[in-house]
Amino acid sequence: SAKQEGRQGYRFFTPEMQARATRNLLLLNALRHALTLEQLQVYYQPQVSMFDGRIIGAEALLRWRHPALGMVSPAEFIPVAEDSGLILPIGEWVLRSAVRQAKAWQAEGLGSLVMAVNLSAVQFRNRELPDLVTRVLEQEGLAPDYLELELTEGVAMLNPESAIDLIDNLHERGVRMAIDDFGTGYSSLSYLKKFKVYKLKIDQSFVRDIGTDAEDKAIVSAVISLARSLGLQTIAEGVETIEQQTFLNQQGCDEMQGYLFSQPLPAEQFAALLKRSLTIE
Ligand code: C2E
Ligand code: MG
Ligand code: MG
Ligand code: MG
Repeated sequence: SAKQEGRQGYRFFTPEMQARATRNLLLLNALRHALTLEQLQVYYQPQVSMFDGRIIGAEALLRWRHPALGMVSPAEFIPVAEDSGLILPIGEWVLRSAVRQAKAWQAEGLGSLVMAVNLSAVQFRNRELPDLVTRVLEQEGLAPDYLELELTEGVAMLNPESAIDLIDNLHERGVRMAIDDFGTGYSSLSYLKKFKVYKLKIDQSFVRDIGTDAEDKAIVSAVISLARSLGLQTIAEGVETIEQQTFLNQQGCDEMQGYLFSQPLPAEQFAALLKRSLTIE
């Protein structure tokens, strides 16, 4: 009967769910040692000015190379890190690595990039986050306005009142805040006004179909004019074609990030790209 089946909870797990659970457990056990075994690496993707094509920022993107599993996508392992709390030490390591790298590039005379670092929901909920951010900046000797923290719209809207407080707190410490994946998280406009953010990152799902989907086109230009009227900067994510770039430029988007310009790169390759872009000028 249905009642009997209900007691045997496993009957409700599909083979796919079972496979996912097994894979997640495997990832979790491997991820526990990833930091100490030096399997993690931060890649950097350029953020480019729409105005003159210059690299004005970098987004730090975490990479995990496991000897047996190969490259594991952050889309797969970040949720595992969040559920287990491992995201706190890993997130701190990413933050410190990225801040140290930004400082090193400044010291090498490679210009003054703004370094963007992703924050997960668990980091954002951690009360010690603002002090941690200030401590890392002081220890690494980077001025706070060269750090930008990305918070997804979904995370900000989970608890908008506490998001306002935390964004205020970080803003007062001089750090720039950006809303990541904008357009996917159902922000209410009244909250958007209260978030002291500097930049909206237009989600790549809207950018992808600019050429073919009239609605996505309309959404992208609406987001850009909304940002304008609120005095916010805009950056488009996932820009892959000249057509997308041209449309975004016409609409007044400030910056872009995507494979059209460059994939995320290891630090040395990013530095080489930076040097080239400095000598072209
Ligand atoms: P995100 O923050 O929205 O990052 C943008 C993602 O788009 C990155 O994927 C980037 O490699 C990819 N991307 C950039 N340009 C293009 C393009 O032109 N086309 C396409 N198709 N994709 C492009 P990635 O590196 O796999 O990261 C996925 C997500 O994992 C990130 O989305 C972010 O939410 C999360 N993540 C990555 N690193 C970290 C981290 O250090 N901490 C936390 N909390 N999350 C991270
Ligand atoms: Mg991001
Ligand atoms: Mg994004
Ligand atoms: Mg994303």
